[in-house]
Parts: sequence; C-alpha cells; structure tokens
Amino acid sequence: MSAVVERCARQEWKSGPMSREVCHQFEVLVVGGGPAGLAAAARAAEASATVGIVDDNPKLGGQIWRGADQDAAGSDASMWLARLKARGVAVICGASVFDLPRPRVLLAEAETAVHVLAYSKLILATGARERFLPFLGWTLQNVIGVGGLQAMVKSGLPIRGRRVVISGTGPLLPAVAAHLRERGAEIMVICEQASWTNLLGFGCSLLQQPGKIRQGLRLSRQLAGVKFLTNAWVVSAHGGTALEYAVIRSKGETKAIPCDYLACGFHLVPNLELPMLLGCRIRNGCVEVDDLQQTAVPNILCAGEPTGVGGVELSIVEGEIAGLAAVGRVDEAKRRFRERAKHRAFAHALDHAFRLRHELSSLPSPDTVVCRCEDVRYSRLDRYASWRSAKLHTRCGMGPCQGRVCGPAVQFLFNWNSESVRPPILPVRVESLAVSASGPRSEYAEVLGGSK
Ligand SMILES: Cc1cc2nc3c(=O)[nH]c(=O)nc-3n(C[C@H](O)[C@H](O)[C@H](O)COP(=O)(O)OP(=O)(O)OC[C@H]3O[C@@H](n4cnc5c(N)ncnc54)[C@H](O)[C@@H]3O)c2cc1C
Repeated sequence: MSAVVERCARQEWKSGPMSREVCHQFEVLVVGGGPAGLAAAARAAEASATVGIVDDNPKLGGQIWRGADQDAAGSDASMWLARLKARGVAVICGASVFDLPRPRVLLAEAETAVHVLAYSKLILATGARERFLPFLGWTLQNVIGVGGLQAMVKSGLPIRGRRVVISGTGPLLPAVAAHLRERGAEIMVICEQASWTNLLGFGCSLLQQPGKIRQGLRLSRQLAGVKFLTNAWVVSAHGGTALEYAVIRSKGETKAIPCDYLACGFHLVPNLELPMLLGCRIRNGCVEVDDLQQTAVPNILCAGEPTGVGGVELSIVEGEIAGLAAVGRVDEAKRRFRERAKHRAFAHALDHAFRLRHELSSLPSPDTVVCRCEDVRYSRLDRYASWRSAKLHTRCGMGPCQGRVCGPAVQFLFNWNSESVRPPILPVRVESLAVSASGPRSEYAEVLGGSK
C-alpha cells in the first residue's frame, strides 16, 4: 500500500455554473455500489484504509438491494451499509464513471459536478445488465426488460391487476414474476427458453447449496398456479400505440396471449466497458482475475458480475476477497476461497443451463430494428463481417446507449465482439468532456500530485 493519504483529502472549486469539480483521493476506490462493491469497501475500510465508493444510482445497493431492502433491519443490505458507515467510507452516489484522464485517476459525472477520483488501488464492481434479443414488436410501448419492470415497480409503478407475460431465460424470470405477483400483477405465463432437462440438471447442481434450494422452493410456492413453460419463447409482440398481445412459441405451436406488459430478459451480461477502458484482459466475455481478484492490470482488482454472472452470494465473497487483497490482508482473503469455489460452481451451472438456443437467432425479420438508438434494421447488418465495420457503415451501437443494448444482441446474432472501448464510456455533458480533455488544472495537479 502506498503512503497513507490524508483521510478523504478533498478540495473543491467552482469553474462555472454547472461544472463544479470535486477532487478526492483514496487508498482504495471502489466503482459500483452493489453487493460486491459494498463488501469490498467494507473489508478494505475495516483494515483502516481510506476508502471511497462511487455508484451511478441515487442510493447504494446495486441491482438487488436498491430500494426498500436497505431499510429492513437485519437485512444483508443494511448490515453491509452499517459497516461502511462505521468505518467512514466516503460515498459518492449519482455519479457515473466515464473516463480516465491519466493513470490512477477516474472522472465521474454527477448532476452538478464532475468528481475527480484519484486512487492507489481500484476495485471494479460494475455488475451486469440484462441481455435483450430483438424480435418483431420488441420496440412497442410496454415491452420491457424483466429487471427493468421490477425496478419500475420497486420505484412505484402500479402493477396491480395488470396482465404480464414473462419471457426469456434465467433465474431472474421466476424471481421477478414472484415479485410482481406479490404486488398484484396477473402473471399470464412464464416462457423459459431452456429445456426441462437443462433445468433438471441445474436443480441437481444446487443440491450442495441448501440456501438456493430453499429459495427455489419459496419461489415455487409464490408462483403456485402460474403457467411455467420450458422450451418456450416469445416470437412477436403486437398492438397499436401500446402492447395488446404477445405471440409465444411452445412445443412447435404459436399462441397469442393478451397482456398489458411483456417483460423479456435473456439472462445477464457483465458490464465490461470500464474494465476494458482500463486495459483489463477479457476472457470468454468476463474480466480475467487471479485468485485474489487481481486483474491483468497492476493495482486494479475486479469483483462480482464482471468476472462472471453467479448471483449475489458470489458477488459478496468476491468483493470481500478483493477488499482484503487490496489492503494486503492476503491470508484472510484466502480463508474465503472455499466459499467462493462453492458459489462459482453455481455460476458454471447457470451458464450451462441457460445458454441460448440457436432458434432465437432467427427471431428478427429483415425489418426488425436491432439498434434502437440509431434505428438500424437487421437487413442492414447481416452483410458485415464485424461489429466495427457495421458501426462504420450503419452507426449500429453508436447512439446514446453506446451499444449497451444492441451489443450483446449482435454478439449472439452475428458472433461479433466489441473490439475496443473509447472514452467517454457513457454519454456525458460537454463540460464534463472538457474536464477530461483539458487535463489537470493547476489546483487539480496539486491535489493529485501523488498519483501521477
Ligand atoms: C436488472 C437486474 C435485476 C436483478 N434482479 C435480481 C433479483 O431480483 N434477485 C436476484 O437474486 N438477483 C437479481 N439480479 C442479479 C443481481 O443483481 C446480482 O446477483 C448481484 O446484485 C450482483 O451484484 P454486483 O455487486 O456484482 O453488481 P450490481 O448489483 O449490478 O452492482 C453494480 C453497480 O455498479 C454500478 N455501476 C456500473 N458501472 C458504473 C459506472 N461506470 N459508474 C458508476 N457506477 C457504475 C451499477 O449501477 C450498479 O449499481 C438482477 C440483475 C439485474 C441486471
């Protein structure tokens, strides 16, 4: 660990009405405030390091612990948040990391400021997002991501009495269905594209994990009476301005199901933009790490879903190991290896059970929009050999989402990979770009002097 820096050394100055720069320096900086990031920050701070955690949501918690879970006394979320508070971890919420202007410095844009974040060690815990696949009608109003619908309901969207079709793959489908049903939604059907045999194999792989079995049994009780089809998927969505019905395929037949919402999600894909920008090595779609969660780039560790999608328990234990390793507590980190191995087995089982069937690649018709931001249709893409050349000719993936939605889809449809990532990794205000481009101001250089 480098020389101890002053706890939360911080300097602020104004450079205009909107672009206040706020400068921070940490021994350990964690990007991502989900379970992995919280565990990493708590473990590092408990070893007396100066720790900061930055997340783009208004509150910490990530995908699973956002909202009410945090306030429930005795919940995992409240326990980790209390540990952060007890150790004075600096929390920067509502700020998206978008660039690295120089080594060991990141920039994060918030509503009225740009945070300049200098670090000695960096832990990336940027999580995962849903994979969407295009099909006829997927851009209609009320056709939405499974996790997206859950997040909207958690934020107050009324769902009572609304008819919902759920389609895609992975354990998120029944989890979200149960959540929506509890809030009064009528779940018309859950279409899981995986086969019954795959699900059976997945169930058997959980026998060593009583916690997961209990979760599964609880879900099946919550979903009693709901139709759950395997080998089934949505082929199209129809309606005027808004959705009226979804057509599903099951056992070789198609059937129209009336609904108010069609929630789709084809498992999760790791958020790799920041790790790639920092030069981390990617293997099989995940950040490559060693036993101590160290990436191929010195002083940069990674934990949670970017290293492989494996559920909340895996994210927590990887976060703990990364946090401990970042502050040199290697023996303590090693004591968590066994727990991690158990949860990694679950991640492998997930990958195997919910791999996408090839029939899904024929869902889009020539006219189906693949890149929603730039309105690029399937027929304009299938002539290119790589995403790079498709981008150059069609602007696919170059709109506001920067390929976050269409990237995983074209990866599946055409086997194209994202070859490079450039800053800014997210759309940001021009004045934030100016901070990134103009380099250190004199005050900025002074504060960050130790991290050149
Ligand atoms: C949409 C969705 C819904 C889910 N719902 C459930 C569920 O109901 N039940 C369940 O068991 N599992 C659910 N999961 C899976 C669950 O999220 C994971 O198992 C677990 O939360 C992963 O923890 P994590 O810390 O690795 O990542 P996350 O919880 O995803 O946390 C990563 C955090 O990093 C932030 N971040 C990413 N990039 C940046 C950046 N550049 N700048 C600043 N912040 C950044 C993200 O906004 C996020 O808050 C869901 C996953 C998704 C994607």
